[in-house]
Amino acid sequence: MDLSPTTAQETFRSEIRAWLVENLPWEYGQGLPPRFETLDEEVMFLRQWQASLAQGGWVGVAWPSQFGGRGAGPAEHFIVQEELARARAPEMVGRIGLNLAAPTILANGSNEQQERWLSRIRTAEDLWCQLFSEPGAGSDLASLTTRAQKVDGGWIVNGQKVWTSYAQFADWGVCLARSDPDATKHKGISYLIIDMHAPGVEVRPLVQLTGDAEFNEVFLNDVFVPDDQLVGDPHDGWRVANSTLSHERGTNPRQLVIHMQLLEELLRLAEENGTFNDTRLRGALAEAYVEIRLFQLHNLRSVSRLSRGLDPGPEGSALKLYWSEMSKRFHDTAMAILGEAAPLWKGAGSNPGDGQWQRSWLYYQASSLWAGSNEIQRNVIGERVLGLPRSSRSGSEQKSGRNKE
Ligand SMILES: Cc1cc2nc3c(=O)[nH]c(=O)nc-3n(C[C@H](O)[C@H](O)[C@H](O)COP(=O)(O)OP(=O)(O)OC[C@H]3O[C@@H](n4cnc5c(N)ncnc54)[C@H](O)[C@@H]3O)c2cc1C
Repeated sequence: MDLSPTTAQETFRSEIRAWLVENLPWEYGQGLPPRFETLDEEVMFLRQWQASLAQGGWVGVAWPSQFGGRGAGPAEHFIVQEELARARAPEMVGRIGLNLAAPTILANGSNEQQERWLSRIRTAEDLWCQLFSEPGAGSDLASLTTRAQKVDGGWIVNGQKVWTSYAQFADWGVCLARSDPDATKHKGISYLIIDMHAPGVEVRPLVQLTGDAEFNEVFLNDVFVPDDQLVGDPHDGWRVANSTLSHERGTNPRQLVIHMQLLEELLRLAEENGTFNDTRLRGALAEAYVEIRLFQLHNLRSVSRLSRGLDPGPEGSALKLYWSEMSKRFHDTAMAILGEAAPLWKGAGSNPGDGQWQRSWLYYQASSLWAGSNEIQRNVIGERVLGLPRSSRSGSEQKSGRNKE
């Protein structure tokens, strides 16, 4: 694997950096993006920001040009994500559409579906959510029970989804529903696009540990989904879903840059409050640095595979496992460095970061669950990378699980 960027890639990096210096709604390299009192205000601001990035040609760079992309490769996509994070730009508000729905529609959707949805995903005119998990189907996703019944001109969908991030802001949702109850578990599922404003769709926000309500329960009561919102063939949804799931992991350039920035801030804090003189904490900071560099190598291995036309493969599980465990250890170190301020929250007086470190610690506790839990990633690595024998439970679960690629 050759890790050195080509001249064209270096030019590309300079171009996006120059664009960001010119167009960021805050000063490049100075301070942080604005913070908002409510999630509604934040989402509105981020929609405008994504629209402006799309206008500059920096969203969906790997998409075909007919949908506003540049037909670029995975390395360029990686560069854009790195540069956005370096400029301290928040994560793209339309990320579920961009990272999960769009690649699935590009790979499996009809021409009409691509024309209808892709451009609006890029510009954040439409936001999307992922209606996969259910109260009884997470790791073992194929055991889902939401039903899609065939009627004239479409499907009637009934069921409950859960942990649906950003459903309260979404215009569309990619949904898995059981369309043939008599078929075996993986065979009778269809992949439907739900209009989140359709009658019968009810979204109830769930408050997380951080106090925010980013994810939701979604109830689907007799929701009519027209035939032209089925992706792929009827009952072939499991195959289509796997193309969505394989995009949940792979590379994570954003987390790479963010952790390096957080580490720099933590070093400053440790010097200010004297904890840098504590040998144990100094060791933990050095370890954090080494781990971030190792994470970079995991990322580069994935980019190298993608650039050769391969998918991230089961090794993508190692990347997901590594960054989530690394993030948790990193935030434990941050709490140790905050010392007596660690239990404080926003507005609590002498609290470096005014609650941002504590919020971040709470947020990253979920990282070992989303995009497939870490136990499942370990099973995948054990069985498919290391070739260890399958245990009877993990074997059957994984075959049907969220992580089957
Ligand atoms: C912040 C966040 C956002 C999310 N957003 C979305 C979203 O937008 N859309 C969506 O569809 N889903 C979303 N999810 C759901 C996520 O994909 C699931 O939480 C995940 O797949 C695990 O499923 P579960 O929560 O049902 O846990 P379960 O599958 O019930 O697992 C419970 C525990 O048992 C362990 N376990 C299960 N099976 C095995 C096994 N075979 N071997 C060993 N251990 C096992 C798991 O590791 C876990 O620790 C989100 C989750 C989080 C935390």
